[in-house]
Amino acid sequence: MKSLIKNIGILYGIQPIEKKRLTGNDIKTVTHIENAWLSFENGRITGFGNNTSLPELSHFEEIIDAEGDTVMPGLIDSHTHIIFPKTREEEFKMKIEGKSYEEIAAAGGGILNSAKAMQNMDSEDLFNTAMQRIQDCISMGTVAFELKSGYGLTTETELKILEVATRIKKLNLFHTKRTLLGAHALPPDYKQNRTAYIDKVKTEMIPLAIQKELVDYVDVFCENGFFTPEETEDILTIASQSGLKAKIHVNQLSVSGGVQVGVKCGALTVDHLENIGQAEIDILSGSSTMPVALPGCSFYLNMPYTPARAIIEAGLPLVLASDFNPGSCPSGNLLFVWSLACIKMKLLPEEAFNALTLNAAAALELQDELGSITIGKEASLLFFKPKTTLALIPYHFSMSKPNLVMIRGKFRS
Ligand SMILES: [Zn+2]
Repeated sequence: MKSLIKNIGILYGIQPIEKKRLTGNDIKTVTHIENAWLSFENGRITGFGNNTSLPELSHFEEIIDAEGDTVMPGLIDSHTHIIFPKTREEEFKMKIEGKSYEEIAAAGGGILNSAKAMQNMDSEDLFNTAMQRIQDCISMGTVAFELKSGYGLTTETELKILEVATRIKKLNLFHTKRTLLGAHALPPDYKQNRTAYIDKVKTEMIPLAIQKELVDYVDVFCENGFFTPEETEDILTIASQSGLKAKIHVNQLSVSGGVQVGVKCGALTVDHLENIGQAEIDILSGSSTMPVALPGCSFYLNMPYTPARAIIEAGLPLVLASDFNPGSCPSGNLLFVWSLACIKMKLLPEEAFNALTLNAAAALELQDELGSITIGKEASLLFFKPKTTLALIPYHFSMSKPNLVMIRGKFRS
């Protein structure tokens, strides 16, 4: 069906198809057209422009009146743990009382708490609760999701989570990428035998997930008290030999050496980066690995923010994502992430927008499908009232919300 959106107040986020990830001056710039139209067919953008070039309306089977709205490409969440068994608000109180993330984990909370609940949870309930969270995120502007496992910590349960992620992917309502995070935390049974668990990840989880076609990427929580850089490299090497690229958790709590391992193993992204220095920035500069900042996690844990300003000034393609998970960031609201990036990490609204759209698409290898207003890409769009500047959206922190969300040409919220 041929469709036309008319009366767009401002159309933001226009990019030529050859721009795959944004750095330098490009990340500081958001191109727009005032008083615009946009056409699409079978969910893909076929044209756009100023009203002076408005096509003949009779050529279209569907006319959508944007009534002067601001329209922009949908946001992309390249790092989530949305498939989790239950919320952990009891730990919220421990955090308020001053317990650290590491102390909560040491007391049997944290990831291990979720893993216990996950093993007993029915797949149908897991699917339904994840879909509810996804729908909430869509209503706040997210149009594509990464879904990690990691709350199983047994081969059977890790695969159960990836099966739920695959069921979501097969709905084919939006883009989904699935990541195996078997090495999220060491299960208590393996405390005396780390190698046996790492072997399980390498020889059971990775091969079975590939064989059953349940996985797109592999992840490791490379951090003090979790997995070492050497163990991370060991797992990534096996994954890479099986054709799986890596997206890894690094340098959240300490300068762990994780960035170096990620780059060495050709990781697509290194995520968190709250604790990095010039050495890590220099290593990333000589690589194709993308840096991902998760400011919602810093906000919730009251911990330092990723030095995103320095990352951008070094000419790197910064990505922003939510890290939506029950322990360290119980929110998937990327509009709030946009505000945090501006307020806490001193990014300009344009820089944060690009880090949440085209660069975020590249962090999931979806740069040819999503992330900008470009002919041939999907018509996955956000509509905001009224006609506004881009800065007004992060400025109204926690208040901004799209009045309509379109994914592949269909309104989903
Ligand atoms: Zn995470």
